[in-house]
Amino acid sequence: MISVDQYLMGRTDGMTEALWANARNMVLRANQLFAHYQMDNPTAAVWRVSSGRRTPDINASIPGAAPQSNHLQCNALDIVDRDRRIARWVAANLHDLADLDLWLEDPRCTPTWVHIQQVPPRSGLRVFIPSADWARRLQGRPLTAGSIR
Ligand SMILES: [Zn+2]
Repeated sequence: MISVDQYLMGRTDGMTEALWANARNMVLRANQLFAHYQMDNPTAAVWRVSSGRRTPDINASIPGAAPQSNHLQCNALDIVDRDRRIARWVAANLHDLADLDLWLEDPRCTPTWVHIQQVPPRSGLRVFIPSADWARRLQGRPLTAGSIR
């Protein structure tokens, strides 16, 4: 289980009522997804936050971060996933994302974490590719559990 405190990472400055509500919802949905994951992986470690809330200063300091990242509005969460166990499980259980109204950055583009968000990307796709560069590299190959290294 992820707590709201873990999600905020101590970054409580500038929090508004709307941001608190977003953060609570993001954590709730992530924990619902985790509950499904845990049913399939009863011995797996609990999920840990790689990146939760970001202030504008912190977001600007992260190489490659989108300027309008959904982390700024507490609408996105990165989960630590160095061994890719979570990425492979999510790729095989995309219906869980739809059930929970969550969207996923294609985990082939996030090599050591899994990014989920509670607002749709511009494309509206359940699994989205973050850049034209990544789209070129993936060459339209579909996301499957076996496609994640
Ligand atoms: Zn992220």
